[in-house]
Amino acid sequence: MNLHLVQVAVPVPLFEFFDYILPTDMPMPSAGCRVRVPFGSRELVGIAMDCRMLASPDGSIETQTGTHQLKHLLEVIDTTPILPPDILTLLAWAARYYHYPLGEVFSAALPALIRQGRTLDLLTCYWRVTAHANITDLARSPKQRKSFDILNLHDQRGAPESILILMGVERSALLALQKRGMAESFMQAHEPIHHPVHLAQMPLVPNAEQQQAIEQVHAHLGRFQGILLNGLTGSGKTEVYLQAMQPVLEAGQQVLVLVPEIGLTPQTVNRFKARFHAEIVMMHSNMTDVARLQAWQAAQTGSAQIVIGTRSAVFSPLPRLGLIVIDEEHDLSYKQQDTFRYHARDVALKRASDVGCPVLLGSATPSLECLHLAAEGRLLELHLRDRAGEAEFARMQLIDLRGKKRENGLSLTLLDAIGKRLKAHEQVLVFLNRRGFAPVLLCDACGWQADCPRCDAHLTVHYTPRQHLHCHHCGYQSRLPTECPACKSVNLIPTGAGTARLEETLVAHFPDHPVIRVDRDTTSRVGSWDKIYERVNHGGPSILLGTQMLAKGHHFPHVTLVAIVDVDGGFLSVDFRAPERMAQLVMQVAGRAGRGSKTGQVLIQTRNPENPLLLTLIRHGYGEFALQMLHERKQSGLPPYRHAALIRAESPSAEKTEAFLSAAITALKAQSDSYRSEQDRRLAPLDIWGPIPAPMEKRAGVFRGHVLIQCADRRLLHQLIAPWWPTLAHLPERRAVRASLDIDPMELS
Ligand code: ADP
Ligand code: ZN
Ligand code: ZN
Repeated sequence: MNLHLVQVAVPVPLFEFFDYILPTDMPMPSAGCRVRVPFGSRELVGIAMDCRMLASPDGSIETQTGTHQLKHLLEVIDTTPILPPDILTLLAWAARYYHYPLGEVFSAALPALIRQGRTLDLLTCYWRVTAHANITDLARSPKQRKSFDILNLHDQRGAPESILILMGVERSALLALQKRGMAESFMQAHEPIHHPVHLAQMPLVPNAEQQQAIEQVHAHLGRFQGILLNGLTGSGKTEVYLQAMQPVLEAGQQVLVLVPEIGLTPQTVNRFKARFHAEIVMMHSNMTDVARLQAWQAAQTGSAQIVIGTRSAVFSPLPRLGLIVIDEEHDLSYKQQDTFRYHARDVALKRASDVGCPVLLGSATPSLECLHLAAEGRLLELHLRDRAGEAEFARMQLIDLRGKKRENGLSLTLLDAIGKRLKAHEQVLVFLNRRGFAPVLLCDACGWQADCPRCDAHLTVHYTPRQHLHCHHCGYQSRLPTECPACKSVNLIPTGAGTARLEETLVAHFPDHPVIRVDRDTTSRVGSWDKIYERVNHGGPSILLGTQMLAKGHHFPHVTLVAIVDVDGGFLSVDFRAPERMAQLVMQVAGRAGRGSKTGQVLIQTRNPENPLLLTLIRHGYGEFALQMLHERKQSGLPPYRHAALIRAESPSAEKTEAFLSAAITALKAQSDSYRSEQDRRLAPLDIWGPIPAPMEKRAGVFRGHVLIQCADRRLLHQLIAPWWPTLAHLPERRAVRASLDIDPMELS
């Protein structure tokens, strides 16, 4: 009898697949089924890739290194593939494109419970009417009566709770009916039911530009086309998404909506729920494993018509995908910054081109990548120029900080302006760019600063829960010294303004008005956002103080002044992407002002009021700024004009880090010389920068270095990386060095 071999992608950081013998009593797994395999001393769940016959009857296999005895598969978990063919193809592409082991790509894309090999038949809560229900009991409870009537439409097989809720039944009513003995619940495996989608709310009458955008999406249904919807915050992009989705849903297809990490608020989801009677599931990192599995299953069976999720939702199985919407396409959270460093926007574009459906990408501040694609005609760019509401976009002005008196970073000009707004019963938003802007401990006498012993970074002064020094990069903590270790002066002063210091200053200046702080600490509790909204939107004149958390998506109609405390960090960074990111942030924060009926004002404090990029941004807006940035990138041959790959390496010794990176470069050059034709080398030269120390060379006690590789030809770049990168694991210099590869890096840190 012949043996069958199963080729398995195992979740380990190795690039090859592994072969296992299929025991004769097991069914042959199709590609995409989960299997349990022995691996070293462990048991792992992998994905079957392929099955083939093995010639030798004893289960041994010849390789270059000799004859090996193969191990047996322990279990075939699935009878039908857990991953549909299109997802399998997509993940295989992503593994190739990001040069990441396929077994680990699978792990990143699958919910934890599936990864662990759990069975898929999760039980769902069903409800049905009991035999002895007496309807006259319900005369005085219309809610229960209505729920009972709906429940009564189903026979003894009952209906899943989630479907009943979609039909207008409230859970509290079901529980009340249960108490009366009129309804009962039971658990049962979920059978997908396909419900047609209905409009729950009339669409708004679109303006001309919205109409055009909606028509363009509809014109491209059923085939691949990227459509960039470029419109300021409040210009009505979400309304376009909703109307663009409608015929897709009505045709029984599914829509995938990707939102930034911070963007998945109840407000966002409620707008979709309010518009459509449809099964909407959410997918994000902050869910329990069971909830995530349920959402994934609802997507996979096709019962979920709309999937709204963050980055990783791009991998959800959707058998009838008809449209992908990506809100805030430029947002950094779409790029995974560790392990499997994929970009959800780019994966989505690839997926849509495989499936043949349009992608609608919305942004007030499109990424330079998308603007470049649009300029090349590969994305269709549409504008929404009018704000759908009445208000105009805020006016932006600079405040020159040079030689001005300041209080904890706030100039008197700014404090004045805030005071005037409060007096006029308006609200003010004070925005602090947290990055690189926190209070450090400085000696007034000799200039000594408190530094982290493990990183190239200043320690930050924290006030809660008790005063201490804290390193934001490695978590190191220490007590505040009482005197300067260098000169023994006791005049140690916290300088620079963190949110806590700013809050104190604002409270001291405007004692009659509430200062509402919004940052990770104040919004981490469930429901705390709702309270903040409540306080701000129903409150009188007040000051909102916050960081990045405040920049996105939130609507504060009474805010008329936005103050940006420090814009300079972004424009002076060594990271070539930093100005783009800062400009996006400025525009986003500015978009918070004047969304009500009053025109807003934005005041930006800077020590570089002549910076040409900053001036372009505030005088001519993001569009002009982006053009100027693209021009600069073209001049210096940076992305999106060339394609980049970044190697990051770190080790406890600066020499070892550098030695590894140098060896990597040598290997790459050798590869390029032998592999590429003279003509390729001339037409698309490989540009290698490095080894260079990372912007923060020492972090948490390790020394970090980079090599940036760029090439104008994406295909050639990948052809070189594919055979080269996996071999670096075998370099002798690799020992004690951790290294990673980042394709299309978004941050050079
Ligand atoms: P964006 O997604 O670009 O920030 P929204 O779609 O949220 O913009 O629209 C901003 C506001 O304008 C919302 O309150 C929305 O209801 C309203 N709006 C959008 N389009 C229209 C329209 N065509 N007619 C009337 N109001 C609209
Ligand atoms: Zn000193
Ligand atoms: Zn540190």
